[in-house]
Amino acid sequence: MLKAPNLAELRWLTHGFGQRDSVYPAQITTVRQIHSDIVIEATTPGGDRIADGDAVVSNQPGVVVGIRTADCVPVLLADMRTRAVASIHAGWRGSAAAIVTGAVEALVRKYGSRPEDLVAAVGPSIGVCCYEVGADVAGQFGVWLPELDGATGSKQLDLKKVNELQLRRAGVRSVWVAGHCTYCEAEQYFSFRREREQAGRMLSYIGTVGERP
Ligand SMILES: [Zn+2]
Repeated sequence: MLKAPNLAELRWLTHGFGQRDSVYPAQITTVRQIHSDIVIEATTPGGDRIADGDAVVSNQPGVVVGIRTADCVPVLLADMRTRAVASIHAGWRGSAAAIVTGAVEALVRKYGSRPEDLVAAVGPSIGVCCYEVGADVAGQFGVWLPELDGATGSKQLDLKKVNELQLRRAGVRSVWVAGHCTYCEAEQYFSFRREREQAGRMLSYIGTVGERP
């Protein structure tokens, strides 16, 4: 299990980015992922694929929210002040729709979070080293990566960078980004591009332990 240093500092929090051999906590609340920008609220512990969506938020003690990935970008958020949390699945479609911005907005709207109190971690995903996309996809990221604006022909796309930029523009100050590439690091990570339908999925999760302050 990979831990983000900035989230590991929060003692009331449990979190992890899954790897091939990871053993997960029981009762992680997940959603049926559809490459959307839909944010679902979890209010009770557990529940597998409780609704269609690609981000899960909660402010309930004992609720652990998770998402599954194999190349797509997993993003975890925690609010230092209110102890609200979010887990986000950001593939290229979700990233183009700025799903992390939507998740930050959901935390603000539902729980009164302030972006400056949020701690964010962008987990292992397919890296810019291995992620070549067509011009039709690359061109959708010109807002965040100007070098892709009006792209013709295939390009290398840095989805982790896109999500980091979106988080910073939303006002999040603490953003940690994993260096790992799921395609390069075959022993540690499943990769959909490398393994196709045989690829397993890794869970990334975050939640509070114990009582609210
Ligand atoms: Zn790579």
